[in-house]
Amino acid sequence: MNLLDVNTAFPTDDKCRELLTRLRWPEGPRCPRCKTDAVELETGKTLFYCKDCAYQFSTTTGTIFNDTHLPLVKWFAATLLLCEAKKGMSACQIQRTVGVSYKTAWYLCHRIRAAMVEADKPMMDGTVEIDETYVGGKARRWMPRRDKEVVFGIRKRNGELRFIHASDANSKTVRQIVGENLSEDVEVIVTDESSIYPFGLGKKHRKAHKTINHSRQYVSGLVHTNTVESAFSLLKRGIMGTWHNISAKHLAAYLDEMTFRFNRRKNSDLFIDTLRHMVTAPVLTFKKLTKEGEAA
Ligand SMILES: [Zn+2]
Repeated sequence: MNLLDVNTAFPTDDKCRELLTRLRWPEGPRCPRCKTDAVELETGKTLFYCKDCAYQFSTTTGTIFNDTHLPLVKWFAATLLLCEAKKGMSACQIQRTVGVSYKTAWYLCHRIRAAMVEADKPMMDGTVEIDETYVGGKARRWMPRRDKEVVFGIRKRNGELRFIHASDANSKTVRQIVGENLSEDVEVIVTDESSIYPFGLGKKHRKAHKTINHSRQYVSGLVHTNTVESAFSLLKRGIMGTWHNISAKHLAAYLDEMTFRFNRRKNSDLFIDTLRHMVTAPVLTFKKLTKEGEAA
């Protein structure tokens, strides 16, 4: 879908709401409070009334859209733009293209991003590449990593990509990340020769471990980390080109957005899938978003 298709299919807030209602309740509306289906549409077609507990609610009550004053057609446009932008899109770009204030665009992006999270993350198997990279901070040649953030990338060959924002790049962190993401039955784990990997892997995982020496050769048959590295380069272009300085506080959310889109890049329903997440993900309040740290 492009912007024109979205405008044609969902030209009014009523049309947008109809779709969101179907996505939120595929089997018909239910009361968010008492879960009964004894609900009826009030006059004006935007509010439901629960006959059991007398709760009044709308399709967007208690979702990412909660309490929004922005027309749904603008939400749809912003969502499509975030879905289509391979390298991500800045709040400034959304501000200009959708025609909203910067603050609204910033909050909008964060809320859509909050829905771009994988609901379940099964343990990964098959052939898996792991690598780490450093992002953010200022590029200073004499102290390249001190003010940078560590991101681990895990990519299953011909499969899923995950980015994890870590506090450091030591073997203890590797052990935790591997424990949370890799199945015991993983066939091959490919990394570079950094010592954090053999020390960070448990006994079973060490048997599957193969390393690549970057100073000598980049590709040695199937033993390479090229696919996770290409994902890192996309991430870095996104950070440099669109998001500029991301604060450490919001980095994990940007990583989720990146991987959500990347893992669905061949999925023609990305836009609808994202909207489905937006009416089923919990509320993200402005207060919660800005409570700790500064805005990105
Ligand atoms: Zn109820």
